[in-house]
Amino acid sequence: MKILVLNTGSSSVKFQVLDTNTQACLASGLIENIGSENGRLRAKHGDEKIERDFGQIDHKFALDAADKVLNEIGVAKGGYDGIGHRIVSGGEKFTESMLVTDDVVKGIEDCIELAPLHNPSHLVGIREALRLFPTTPQVVVFDTAFHQTMPEHAYMYAVPRKLYDEAHLRRYGAHGTSHRFVSAKTAEMLGRPLSEIAIVTAHLGNGCSCAAVVDGKCMDTTMGLTPLEGLIMGTRSGDIDPSVYSFLNKRYGWDISRINNMLNKDSGLLGISGLSNDMRTLVNASESGHEGAKLAIEMFAYRLAKLIAGMVVALGRKPDAIVFTGGIGENSIPPRMLTIKHLAGLGYKIDDAKNKIHGSATGGVITADDSPIAMIVPTNEELLIALDTEKVINSKK
Ligand code: ADP
Repeated sequence: MKILVLNTGSSSVKFQVLDTNTQACLASGLIENIGSENGRLRAKHGDEKIERDFGQIDHKFALDAADKVLNEIGVAKGGYDGIGHRIVSGGEKFTESMLVTDDVVKGIEDCIELAPLHNPSHLVGIREALRLFPTTPQVVVFDTAFHQTMPEHAYMYAVPRKLYDEAHLRRYGAHGTSHRFVSAKTAEMLGRPLSEIAIVTAHLGNGCSCAAVVDGKCMDTTMGLTPLEGLIMGTRSGDIDPSVYSFLNKRYGWDISRINNMLNKDSGLLGISGLSNDMRTLVNASESGHEGAKLAIEMFAYRLAKLIAGMVVALGRKPDAIVFTGGIGENSIPPRMLTIKHLAGLGYKIDDAKNKIHGSATGGVITADDSPIAMIVPTNEELLIALDTEKVINSKK
């Protein structure tokens, strides 16, 4: 099938057209700065790069522009067999990918309070896609769905039960599409059935999370009610004492939204280093002696190792692999090295030569021969969305 995958965010739309037979990406692009004055489109089609700059744009304009470019480069010819939408939160309602119906749209609306920045934009994406492609089947793929197999003792918070019963306050996790894709790929790379392996997956991009996956099912994850919990990320603090809210309110008079903003946008690698949220910049700066960058990388790796060790508890047995993925996980050498060093207590030993070439000569493995396995497995969320879209469409035929 030829599938158009859409990720409609509040100020951007990412699109990709994939062929599910060859698993090839036929074209991809990004429209940025929706809602501000310098809207722009950047797309790739083989070696061809397409750049368009606009003025003020909205989501309708952005999706029209994506459609226009895909027509111009010939990728839209003959239409699409299906459209797959990435949806950040499906709450407890959605445990798998679904065909878009009125009821499903209503379900996504009901989850808005769990993803107030994302779900409303996704709904606009669905509406605009229905306008552009009224007869093409559309499927929604949820970032939270994979984590719905977590046991109660992992997803509940230790707060009054009433808050779960009435307000659905619990841990949901995110990045589920990536953790699911990478789990299946890891089984393939280890040459073992997914239904027989226990792994910890670490998705390290701008957002970062770990998952404990046993026999293909998620048993725990580090993100919580929102993506703020858990690991240190590009601009998010990850785990922190909730009392910072009252502390900062008393000290500076900051209100909840200001503190939320600080913890989500000004913290993490950016906050610690005072330099950047980008791991590439930090690795370069730390090599030139920048103390903030050095500390940021060290804290990132220490927290990661600490939470990986926690995920091993959720596995209930020795991991068959610890898996690194995402922009940092796949590409950045020092954070992986430091993380594995912190896992010495569990018997892990890094092999610097293997790590340096990203495990490319050893099937992704970056640990020493006498160490349990840690490996790199590249993620591809768009491909999984396309494959799910195909599967859901075929199951309704
Ligand atoms: P997103 O979560 O937005 O999809 P990515 O998965 O692309 O983001 O991850 C972005 C992070 O990956 C950034 O911190 C970036 O510095 C890092 N990264 C990407 N490529 C490399 C590279 N070649 N070397 C080191 N770090 C990289």
